[in-house]
Amino acid sequence: KPKRAAEPKGPEKIPGVARIIAVASGKGGVGKSTLSANLACALAQQGRKVGLLDADVYGPSQPRMMGVTGRPASPDGKTILPMRNHGVTMMSIGLMVNEDQAVIWRGPMLMGALQQMMMQVQWRALDVLIVDLPPGTGDVQMTLSQKAQVDGAIVVSTPQDVALLDARKGIDMFDKLNVPLLGLVENMSTHVCSNCGHEEHIFGHGGVAAEAEKLGVPLLAEVPLDLKIRLASDGGVPVVVSAPDSRQAKAYQDIAAAL
Ligand code: ADP
Repeated sequence: KPKRAAEPKGPEKIPGVARIIAVASGKGGVGKSTLSANLACALAQQGRKVGLLDADVYGPSQPRMMGVTGRPASPDGKTILPMRNHGVTMMSIGLMVNEDQAVIWRGPMLMGALQQMMMQVQWRALDVLIVDLPPGTGDVQMTLSQKAQVDGAIVVSTPQDVALLDARKGIDMFDKLNVPLLGLVENMSTHVCSNCGHEEHIFGHGGVAAEAEKLGVPLLAEVPLDLKIRLASDGGVPVVVSAPDSRQAKAYQDIAAAL
């Protein structure tokens, strides 16, 4: 009997994972990873079982931001044990390569690695898995939403026109991939001088709010451009953990509470 070609598999649930939320941006450097890390930690503080999957395969920054080092173990040679810090279960391709090593794999290899990180990692029971996507609208976004059932996406942008323009492409992509848009986040919204308290809108202000209104989705937060946020991320202890009662942490905590 001739073998029939295998049916292409539709999106699957990751075993044990109740909800998958992707964090995306059109452009790099707008604060997507910072948001993902702080959001994951804030959710953990609110008592939820949280995972963080660093799918930014070309520029994985979660090991540094979450203060995680070392190689994940695979005792059975088939599944991978995730790492854990700040109450968050996490996995990153950055833990599989040296920090200063460029990831120069071809597409299929990258997609294989992504699929492994989704399906072969022992995530165990999670209320929510935050996925930190690479910037833009490429293979990773497609693979993720085709292989796994993504419950919603958050798009982060700076108020600047160029970043917003790229964010619109991201929004359009999720629409085409049938992933509901949970809302937008304006990052680097206001800068408050740590010396004199003067407020300045370095990248403009309000552009993301206007876009959210146009799309009919919530503006989840306006996160200030703040030295404390940057220092905390660089030090491996996100600001919601290092200073949970601070004004800087509040924006992230508000998003977590709304999810
Ligand atoms: P992306 O993931 O979009 O490439 P990152 O989260 O890596 O962006 O952020 C880029 C840089 O900007 C990092 O050094 C990060 O610490 C810093 N950064 C991000 N958001 C803020 C913020 N709200 N205030 C200050 N620095 C920030």
